[in-house]
Amino acid sequence: MRNLRFTMLVFVALVISITLCAKPKIRIIATGGTIAGVAASSSSSAYTAGQVGIQTLIDAVPQVKDLAEVSGEQLVNIGSQDMNDQVWLKLAKRVNQLLNAEGYDGVLITHGTDTMEETAYFLSLTVHSDKPVILVGSMRPSTAISADGPANLYNGVAALCDPTSKGHGVMACMNNMLIDAKSLYKSHTTDCATFKGTYGQIGYVYNGKAYYTSEPTYRHTTRSEFNVDNLDKLPQVGIVYGYANASALPMQAFVNAKFDGIVLAGVGDGNFYKDVFDVALKARNSGIQIVRSSRVPTGPTCLNGEVDDSKYHFVAALNLNPQKARVLLQLALTKTHDWQQIQKYFQEY
Ligand code: ASP
Repeated sequence: MRNLRFTMLVFVALVISITLCAKPKIRIIATGGTIAGVAASSSSSAYTAGQVGIQTLIDAVPQVKDLAEVSGEQLVNIGSQDMNDQVWLKLAKRVNQLLNAEGYDGVLITHGTDTMEETAYFLSLTVHSDKPVILVGSMRPSTAISADGPANLYNGVAALCDPTSKGHGVMACMNNMLIDAKSLYKSHTTDCATFKGTYGQIGYVYNGKAYYTSEPTYRHTTRSEFNVDNLDKLPQVGIVYGYANASALPMQAFVNAKFDGIVLAGVGDGNFYKDVFDVALKARNSGIQIVRSSRVPTGPTCLNGEVDDSKYHFVAALNLNPQKARVLLQLALTKTHDWQQIQKYFQEY
């Protein structure tokens, strides 16, 4: 009897220690970008994005094996200038599956930097888990002198393994910084320190450990009501850029093509050039939702500022830049065409 009890105790202790020592299970989904880019010369700026496969990316950073049980898959291998709705839908569904059905503790996505902010924001609204999801990329191709991809990938995996990383929504880990999806924007065309947060970073990674300094307050992931599980396409939303003496032709082209929504990257506080405004008003009256955002990189586009949104049934993008306003409008239009409800989404998300 005593022997049996002792054997059971040893067994339980063994199970507990195996569980405690088990490394987090991390999946890497590769989508391409400069992090997978190859140049003819290590010192040249000419290169092609999306050339190297997932296993080569993992093999370049063997240190991640000390942190986690890492495995990978290749979703697509493209420059993120070619990112599209179909890949977003596939990606969101796959991340949900990995975290909610396949027992992964976190997902790292390697991605081009051009549209990383949009993919991050799309996922922050469509992934339903509090487990961490982190995007990483690089500004220098994998063949460059001092490529920045491997360090970003290592830091991203380190942050995913850190128990404090749960519940912050989707983030990017670039140049040691952790930036949440809504705040994230690319601020420089070539600099490795290109990614910034409109409201600063929410944390950083140092010596393989994540440190958080603030918390996103908007609705995301587990608190998001958007669900793409049963969707195979998204509403069509285009962006019209504002400038002095602007032509109304791009706005008119979207109207003619029967787009569901149009985002204005307006001047100042989301203002229209008069000819563009006239077409926008006609578009709105024909049922196309207009969202006013701004080409100014920081600051909100305010509701009922110089434009009377309540009168025209426009929506103000508030703290979303045009490219992210487009993402939210696409998802909003999967649920409603009521402009007041859409405005509410822009307040909450
Ligand atoms: N054009 C590249 C991409 O977005 C740029 C990069 O990754 O830095 O895929």
